[in-house]
Amino acid sequence: MQNRTQLENVLRRIDGRGYKAYKDIQGSYDFGNFILHIDHVQGDPFASPSRIRVVVPQKVAGFPQELYSSKPRKKGLEDFLTRQISKNIARIVKGNRGTGKSGQISVISVGQEILNRTSVLVTNSSVEARMTMGLPARGRTVLAGQAMEMFFGELPRLVEQSLIYRNLDNAALLKHVNLAEDQWVLRNKIKEMGLVAFIANGSILPRRSGVDDRPMERGAVPFKSPPELEVMVELPHAGKVWGMGIPKGITLIVGGGYHGKSTLLHAIERGVYDHIPGDGRELVVTVEDAVKIRAEDGRRVEKVDISPFINNLPNGESTKAFSTENASGSTSQAANIMEALEIGTSLLLIDEDTSATNFMIRDARMQKLVHKDSEPITPFIDRVEDLYEQLGVSTIIVVGGSGDYFDVAHRVIMMEQYVPKDVTAKAKAIAQEYKTDRKKEVGGQPIRVTHRIPIPHSLSLTGRKKKIKSRGLDNIQYGHTNLILDDVEQLVDVNQTRAIGDIIRYAMENYMDGKTTLKEIIQKVQRDIEEKGLDVIAPFEGLHPGDYAQPRPQEIGAAINRLRILRVTTNHI
Ligand code: ADP
Ligand code: MG
Repeated sequence: MQNRTQLENVLRRIDGRGYKAYKDIQGSYDFGNFILHIDHVQGDPFASPSRIRVVVPQKVAGFPQELYSSKPRKKGLEDFLTRQISKNIARIVKGNRGTGKSGQISVISVGQEILNRTSVLVTNSSVEARMTMGLPARGRTVLAGQAMEMFFGELPRLVEQSLIYRNLDNAALLKHVNLAEDQWVLRNKIKEMGLVAFIANGSILPRRSGVDDRPMERGAVPFKSPPELEVMVELPHAGKVWGMGIPKGITLIVGGGYHGKSTLLHAIERGVYDHIPGDGRELVVTVEDAVKIRAEDGRRVEKVDISPFINNLPNGESTKAFSTENASGSTSQAANIMEALEIGTSLLLIDEDTSATNFMIRDARMQKLVHKDSEPITPFIDRVEDLYEQLGVSTIIVVGGSGDYFDVAHRVIMMEQYVPKDVTAKAKAIAQEYKTDRKKEVGGQPIRVTHRIPIPHSLSLTGRKKKIKSRGLDNIQYGHTNLILDDVEQLVDVNQTRAIGDIIRYAMENYMDGKTTLKEIIQKVQRDIEEKGLDVIAPFEGLHPGDYAQPRPQEIGAAINRLRILRVTTNHI
């Protein structure tokens, strides 16, 4: 291992030379308090910035073991440190020092969620942080003086103020870690209590805007459970917490327009993730396999059995292995449900705002006018009970527009000026008094989930465009194919999207063999990530990627299912 003087010497030697000379600094350097690894040096000042790692021995970093003694606590600590680096970069790093990305130091971007990421790794022996650095140049000429300021001025200060325990706000850190643990405990407890979601009293659900996920600043009405649904949960750190528990089964959220129905459902959707202190949804948790279902017309579908919902298409096509390049609203929504069941889910979340009306309901008058034989769709209202009774899959639906659902609901929550009321008894009485005359269109026929097997070569990357590159939150360039994830609403972080791109490659190279089902493939990838860390999905060893955040199996499945080149064989189980 070299020391910092040697790095300084190399920098002095290459000052004023062509940018490629920076390649000479690749390697590891002992800085005394930490080791700096320069893993990859960029080719020019505009290219992706150079990848570096800083490893601080625990002897120096000094984090008490109880801050990373369990998986949720370790995740909380690593999340806190990532945010600390991010904050300190803004304070310490001067930024622009020449052409292109010269002078930048960056860490993974973070949002409101506490996620498992590859940016910071804490173990018994060390704290490792992964960043990128834009090595400074004027034009293509090495600016060694500027580089030295970054390496010997900014970087050590950044390490000192972000990764050394005694220099941090220890109370804030402990709160963050304890909260991560509380959310983990809460998510487990609600399952034991027979609930699918919990929303603590006092939670702030509305967000600042449609494009800003931080809590609404002024005028937010704090959440307050109706007495009928109020439950108490005891958490290791927060102590006794009261809030609304939504039991398993079929739950309607009703209420007038603009009274906060969708806002409540969104919070429940996001409850599959942990949130940072101050988010407002810290104690809003949902079973981790909940899936938001929506209509998604135009999407591709590959051999999905949508026959529980759609039959007798006018073109005579089978719906047991239904494929289309251009799904309709209703067929896409049916496919989204069946795919979610295939990967595994215990809770479906549906909002009328993003549903196909004809998929959700067919009322008595329409049943009389359009005979069942000429309507391929069995509406969701006639299947929602089967989903629960046969498969144990609960549903929470936002419906402001159809009281027909009162017949099938186990409970009805009404939002009134952002305050939930339990109106189950009233809704059931209304359903008794005003019979709808509509007929159930199926008689509880079994809903079978077909497991599909991806054909490996359908996803192979050949020819000139072998690259997988994510673009923002909703887009992955997969070789020649553009994968669009706009309507996968529980994908929340661009770094999850990046990870998904590489997971598809990893899955293809390791587990797609023409025999393994999609669900098994994803389970195997998950197991590898659990055992070896998220680094396993990197396209080559020694890359030490700092920019992944872990996606759920549900979003990985959603992405593979939306790849337009995917081909599968089916295997009825
Ligand atoms: P709905 O789905 O019932 O039509 P939304 O959930 O879309 O209503 O909410 C309508 C508006 O009210 C949104 O702008 C939302 O941000 C705001 N809102 C929702 N919940 C609250 C709340 N608890 N306090 C203040 N404003 C809220
Ligand atoms: Mg709405």
